[in-house]
Amino acid sequence: MFENILGQKKIKNVLASQLKSGKFPHAYIFMGQNGVGKRHTAVELAKVLNCTVNDWTKTDAGACGKCSNCEKISHFSHPDLHFIDFAKQAEMLDEDIEKQKTLKIETIREMQKEVLTKAHEAKWKIFIVEPAEKMNAAAANSLLKTLEEPPDNTLIILIARHKETIAQTIVSRSQTLFFEPLGQNEIASYLMLNNSLAALKAEEIAAIAEGSIEDAQKLIDPAESEGLSLWLKIKNENLDAADILNLSRKVAKDETLEYIGAMTAEAKKDFRLYPHSAIKTLEYLNNARALILKNVNAQTVMDNLLLDLYDLKKTSKMFKL
Ligand SMILES: [Zn+2]
Repeated sequence: MFENILGQKKIKNVLASQLKSGKFPHAYIFMGQNGVGKRHTAVELAKVLNCTVNDWTKTDAGACGKCSNCEKISHFSHPDLHFIDFAKQAEMLDEDIEKQKTLKIETIREMQKEVLTKAHEAKWKIFIVEPAEKMNAAAANSLLKTLEEPPDNTLIILIARHKETIAQTIVSRSQTLFFEPLGQNEIASYLMLNNSLAALKAEEIAAIAEGSIEDAQKLIDPAESEGLSLWLKIKNENLDAADILNLSRKVAKDETLEYIGAMTAEAKKDFRLYPHSAIKTLEYLNNARALILKNVNAQTVMDNLLLDLYDLKKTSKMFKL
């Protein structure tokens, strides 16, 4: 169970044994620094509880990852998986996401409406509240009422970097699980697999990433940051097909994989807001990577990749202009 969560052995054991015994709290606080898998674990737990192939009350096989519930939860498009976060609040208040500094009572009230309605498709309704340490006092008081009278088949997961600003009343009605910084080996293998880094480079970065995947990705080398700037150009600038091909010609052939790695890391960040476009983009990037590894001409692969993204840009809100 929870095999695709990086590290965090203790947490996985606690969750697995709680599921096995059928006794787990109505609310968790997943606490720990950035980039250690808190949100990922919350989403995996949502899958385990709602998987229609592997019933967690009968088997400890974990989520199948393929049934309709698992798929929709993976793509953040399941109607019973609710993210109560700055993205939702910005959408609700029709404001920029950058303007959101605290989680407000309006947002918690909106969540409570959903808490009181029946689940749409799944057995369990899951609410992921993040960043929980940014709830203001009114929001926290309001949430407390839900924690005091938790409805059946509802799991609330508060995600927080630290608990200094979380009301003690909330802490005492939840179970806190502490996520530790990831090990260097764990980070290095992640970077090799997901960012196409060579072993030596991956180990170098892992050694200074202080246990965080997020920080590790910020430390990736200049070819990667050029990959990032290429991605941002495609995403945000008004380009035509000729511009796209010019951009493609500027990518050095022996750096194609680094570019693809950087673009992959960036596209993953759009997963939450634009799941469908992000998945399509990741498909294109994965195909391109596979072709490069098969020694297909790097220029051709890059041309086709960027033209595919250019086509996607015409219909997707993930890309501006
Ligand atoms: Zn499943």
